[in-house]
Amino acid sequence: MAATSDSGVDIEEYDDVWVFVEQHDGEVASVTWELLSKGRDLADERGEDLVALVMGEDVAETDIPQQCIARGADRVLVADDPVFEPYRSDPYGEQFRHLVETRKPAVALIGGTHTGRDFAGRVAVPTHAGLTADCTELEMEDGRYEMRRPAFGGDALATIICPEHRPQMSTVRPGVFPAAEPDEDRDGELEDVEVVVDESETMTEVLDREVGDVADITDADVVVAGGMGTEGDFEPLWELADLLDGEVAASRDAVEEGWIEPARQVGQTGKTVRPKLYIAAGISGAIQHLEGMDDSETVVAINTDPNAPIFDNADYGIVGDLHEVVPELIEYFEEHEE
Ligand code: FAD
Repeated sequence: MAATSDSGVDIEEYDDVWVFVEQHDGEVASVTWELLSKGRDLADERGEDLVALVMGEDVAETDIPQQCIARGADRVLVADDPVFEPYRSDPYGEQFRHLVETRKPAVALIGGTHTGRDFAGRVAVPTHAGLTADCTELEMEDGRYEMRRPAFGGDALATIICPEHRPQMSTVRPGVFPAAEPDEDRDGELEDVEVVVDESETMTEVLDREVGDVADITDADVVVAGGMGTEGDFEPLWELADLLDGEVAASRDAVEEGWIEPARQVGQTGKTVRPKLYIAAGISGAIQHLEGMDDSETVVAINTDPNAPIFDNADYGIVGDLHEVVPELIEYFEEHEE
């Protein structure tokens, strides 16, 4: 049966699930491993291959392609060229576009990072793909790929399908899926692909790079989060986080007060974190906040109100004033520092 859609696209020509492997200076963004885990499930349900796409300079000589196989990829496409280092949207977009047009993937997953958001549109527009940004859930339902993302400022969850165009592209919020665990015994194929981008054709040149405070709370094993109960005094939380080698985060209300930068907000309209330890200090536990942290391994809540909802979601609850409890924790960890 012909599967040409109303748009004229023969959707049966497209198969496989692709994952874009984001790396900078040889360091792979953790969202990549999350996409490989979700991508593996989707590929299995679709009965297709999971394909990882690695771009960069000298990436073929790193263990990144092999790591992709260990973490679930059946095949790894490697585009190795100096033009891909450091990241620029035009060479990345152009190379990805070429591969999409020649290889025809059915689904393409890209991390919803600065990099992913920057170049995904450069692929989606020329290929007429359907692109859903900032997905938090991806499912196969009755053979149909469904992408879900918060809508209306987080008040609703929209389900988006793409029946007419291919590939079905999604940028995915970091932290929402567990990372794929490596299995060094897995087999897969590595393929060097033709690089179609030439430095002389790129529109941008990087003259200098300045890296600001780009702390990624989604990567931290320990997150010390503060809310309105801090009354704006985050200093003890920074001190505690420092001692525990963790990051500081906050509720949306604390961010809106200007006490801390928006990149550190946890929740439905912020980041999703799943650290080993989440300390919630002076946070009531609104549903929108819980959505961003309730997969944490261990939650410790500090709140003066014994009826605060956060206690229903905590493994350990301390009813008390955070201005007293946090300094006591700092003292304890200072005394027991290795
Ligand atoms: P409060 O609810 O005011 O709680 C402060 C807590 O501190 C109280 O429980 C109080 O008992 C305790 N306290 C006070 N003094 C002390 C003290 N000295 N020591 C210890 N405890 C003390 N919120 C998010 O966090 N993230 C989101 O992504 C997010 N998205 C949203 C999206 C939408 C569409 C909407 C409508 C809301 C969203 N919110 C989000 C807001 C959310 O509903 C809550 O308003 C917010 O999480 C409350 O922040 P809070 O817990 O810091 O403040």
